[in-house]
Amino acid sequence: MDFSGWEKLSLLDFDDNITTTLFMAGCDFRCPFCQNSSLVLNPKSAPTIPWAEILDYLKKRTNVLDAVCVTGGEPTLMPDLSDKLADIKALGYKVKLDSNGSRPEILRLLINQGLDLRTAMDIKNSPEKYAMTIGTTNFSMDDIIESTRFLIDNKIPHEFRTTTIAEYHNEHDFEEIGKWLSGAQRYFIQRYIDSEHCISHGLHMVSKEKALVYKAILASTISHVDLRGYD
Ligand code: SF4
Repeated sequence: MDFSGWEKLSLLDFDDNITTTLFMAGCDFRCPFCQNSSLVLNPKSAPTIPWAEILDYLKKRTNVLDAVCVTGGEPTLMPDLSDKLADIKALGYKVKLDSNGSRPEILRLLINQGLDLRTAMDIKNSPEKYAMTIGTTNFSMDDIIESTRFLIDNKIPHEFRTTTIAEYHNEHDFEEIGKWLSGAQRYFIQRYIDSEHCISHGLHMVSKEKALVYKAILASTISHVDLRGYD
């Protein structure tokens, strides 16, 4: 497995950092609202970007770029992820790792290896509605919960985020998520945008008014909650 997509310059993926973003092909979920359907559904057809080419680019831009965002697909499925992240960190970059949280043992391994990472983990829905929201029953809710508790309890720099869909989410779901993720550092409620790149179509975004209701629910247990994509 290698990286298959590359957005060389982004100002949106990691706070105010000037970031380059790497996309891995392949994922163990099938979220209908996923914006990277080609990487998720057809990973074997995705292009391969040589790691040496990426490293060379990064070596030449240490004075220009601040950070690297590693996303997917699901990056924790990449067998040599820790080596690649170590290569990036050795160049002095900040690193943000996006994950769906399905492999807590990999998150634990990376942190235990001393990699200083910002993690961004998707929270797809309340536990009882996870399967319908990720498009598969082939997953472990225990693993998802373990990933969240690992990040929160060990104070690993993290954010959680939910892409809200009118057909999937309601107030009760966010009450349950708020109880589950009590003590989390940051949480973002993200606006869904339908596009030709989504796995499924016909879903609807949540209005800003409704997103603000969800924000208020989460704010009772999470210190920093904000909307993303609603400006
Ligand atoms: S949204 Fe994320 S977790 Fe869901 S299918 Fe796409 S890459 Fe996988």
